[in-house]
Amino acid sequence: MNAMDNGPNSPKLEAGMHPLAGTPCDRLRAVQARIARAAAEAGRDAATVRLLAVSKTFDAAAVRAMAACGQHEFGENYLQEALEKQAALGDLPLLWHFIGPIQSNKTRAIAGNFSWVHSVDRLKIADRLSAQRPAGLPPLQVCIEVNVSDEASKGGVAVAELPMLAEAVSKLPGLRLRGLMAIPAPATGMAAQRAAFRRVREAYDALIAHGHALDTLSMGMSADLEAAVPEGATIVRIGTALFGER
Ligand SMILES: *Cc1c(COP(=O)(O)O)cnc(C)c1O
Repeated sequence: MNAMDNGPNSPKLEAGMHPLAGTPCDRLRAVQARIARAAAEAGRDAATVRLLAVSKTFDAAAVRAMAACGQHEFGENYLQEALEKQAALGDLPLLWHFIGPIQSNKTRAIAGNFSWVHSVDRLKIADRLSAQRPAGLPPLQVCIEVNVSDEASKGGVAVAELPMLAEAVSKLPGLRLRGLMAIPAPATGMAAQRAAFRRVREAYDALIAHGHALDTLSMGMSADLEAAVPEGATIVRIGTALFGER
């Protein structure tokens, strides 16, 4: 980083903020390189880690620019904002993932307009998504969000309640349970970050041992993908490193 861009005379740059460098395609390539490097260091094939571009708060033009670089899977947190972008980008072959908190009154539109939902954390929501998935579409691909940080305020089902929820979700005809998603509490240092992701993977392995056919661990964001990949992430959800600070 150029000292002149980040010196005491640059009040706009707060601690921890990085000026966004390069074109959308440069940023996409840089994130892909981070994934490839993390996978190589973990002895994994980089092709087993999918990149989900998290475009919340960025407009349709930003998504279109990223799509032009070859990125086709996008994650959104806010329904209304997502529907507007989907309408503006209907000419592109994009795959949309819903990754935000889900209110009951939003399930019909989510079931009708997304391919994946990562943030299922209670049966009532799963029931509604299943019942409201349009008959002409394949089952909605879902992950259960699990809370491994014991933060009462955050979303996600407690690890202790996960087996019962997974059992119920896996029986719903409109859904296909693919795996788990987690947003661990922010942790400093690779060891602490990896420990949280390891708890997610252990919960995932336990479900597989009980007979669930799962293939998806959605974990790792801009700040911690290097910790998530060695713990088995198969989807990393990246916003800031692709689109900039929100
Ligand atoms: C915003 C968000 C992300 C992306 O986070 P960054 O730190 O910007 O990469 C990933 N997952 C979820 C659920 C999010 O809400």
